[in-house]
Amino acid sequence: MKREYYEVLGVSRTASKDEIKKAYRKLALQFHPDKNPDNKDAEEHFKEVNEAYEVLSNDDKRRRYDQFGHAGVGSSAASGGGGQYGGGATDLNDIFSAFNDMFSGGKTRAGGAPFGFEEVFGGGGGRRGRASSGIPGTDLKIRLKLTLEEIAKGVEKTLKIKKQVICQECKGSGSKSGATENCQTCHGTGEVRQASKTMFGQFVNIAACPTCGGEGRIIKDRCTSCYGEGIKLGEVTVKVTVPSGVEDGNYLTLRGQGNAGPRGGAAGDLIVVIEETAHELFSRHGDDVVYSLAVSFPDLVLGTKVEVPTLDGAVKLTVPPSTQPETMLRIAGHGIGHLRGSSRGDQYVKVNVFVPKDLSHQDKELLKELKKSSGISPTAHNDKNSKGFFEKARDIFT
Ligand SMILES: [Zn+2]
Ligand SMILES: [Zn+2]
Repeated sequence: MKREYYEVLGVSRTASKDEIKKAYRKLALQFHPDKNPDNKDAEEHFKEVNEAYEVLSNDDKRRRYDQFGHAGVGSSAASGGGGQYGGGATDLNDIFSAFNDMFSGGKTRAGGAPFGFEEVFGGGGGRRGRASSGIPGTDLKIRLKLTLEEIAKGVEKTLKIKKQVICQECKGSGSKSGATENCQTCHGTGEVRQASKTMFGQFVNIAACPTCGGEGRIIKDRCTSCYGEGIKLGEVTVKVTVPSGVEDGNYLTLRGQGNAGPRGGAAGDLIVVIEETAHELFSRHGDDVVYSLAVSFPDLVLGTKVEVPTLDGAVKLTVPPSTQPETMLRIAGHGIGHLRGSSRGDQYVKVNVFVPKDLSHQDKELLKELKKSSGISPTAHNDKNSKGFFEKARDIFT
C-alpha cells in the first residue's frame, strides 16, 4: 500500500512550499544512504521521501495529486521500471497517465478524487496478483464521451483500443525458446547504483538495471517479432457497461484490461473516464434536467397544452392558466436514472414568455386594442407584488 505523500513528509495537505521543503530536507538528511549504510529500511524511506517531494514541490503535479491521488501523477508503474521500455504504451489512446495500485484498498483515495466504481458494483474482484515473473503492465486510461440520453438510461459501449498485447510468436516470453541467463550488468539483482550530486551532497540512487530492465535475467535468442519484450502493439475490442447517472470525471476500472506486462507480467487495468457531452436542449442539474420553453403571452394567460421534448421523446404538457414567466413545471421521471437505485430524476420545464420581434400592422392594432383593457397592465390592484411608482420611490428615499 502506497502511503500518502503528505503523510510521508509529515505535513498537512495545506502545507506551504516552504514547509514542504523544510520537511523534505530534514527527512532526506535523516534517511540519507550515506548515514544509513546497508539499511534497507532507511533506503526505502529515502526513496519514498524523494518521490513525495518531487510531486509536492511541483505545483502542477501537486494539484493533480490532490485531485486524483497517486494515480494523477502516474506515480507508479514499477518505480524504477517505468522507463525501461520507453513508456511507449502510455502514449496511446489519449492516455495521460500510467497507473499503479491506484484503487487498492479502495479507502485511501485523496479527498475529491473521482468516484470509484468498484464501490458501486461491490466486490470488484480485488487487486490483481503480481505475477512472479515479468514486469507488470501499465494501466491504461481512455476517455469515453457519452450523450445525456446515454447517461440517462445507462449504455453498453464497444470500444476499439490500441494497447500492448501479448506477443503470439513467443507467447509473451520474449524468447524463441524460452531460455534466459543471468544479467551480466547487475549480476542478477536487477538493480544498479549510481552516485549523483545534489544540493544536499552526494546521493546514491538505486535504479532498475538498464540492461535487464530490473528483471535480473536476460533472454537468450530474442523473439524477433516483439524484440524480446513479449508484448506488441495491438488493437482489441472491449465492452464497457456504463450505469445510468454517471457524471463527467467518473471512471470505471476494468481489471486486467490495460497493457499486457512485458515477458509474462500481469496486465494493467483499463480506466475508462466518463466525459459528458453538452446537450443542445437540456441542461443537467444532478439527476434532473431543465428545458426552456417559450410560450406566447395569450397562452400563458389562458393556459395551453404543448408538446415538449424529453430524453424519452416528446411528452404532452399542460401550461395552466395565469402561469407566470420563470415558472418551473415538473415532468416526473423523465430525468437521469439514479446511479444507485432504479428510479429516475425529473425534467423541469422553465416557462418563458415569447416576445415576437416582427409584428404585422394588424397584430399591432390588436395589441393596442388589448392594451385599452383595464386588467392587462400591472397596478396595485391586480398585482400585489408590484407597488405603485410613488410607493417604490418612497422606499428608496427613506
Ligand atoms: Zn515475441
Ligand atoms: Zn541487469
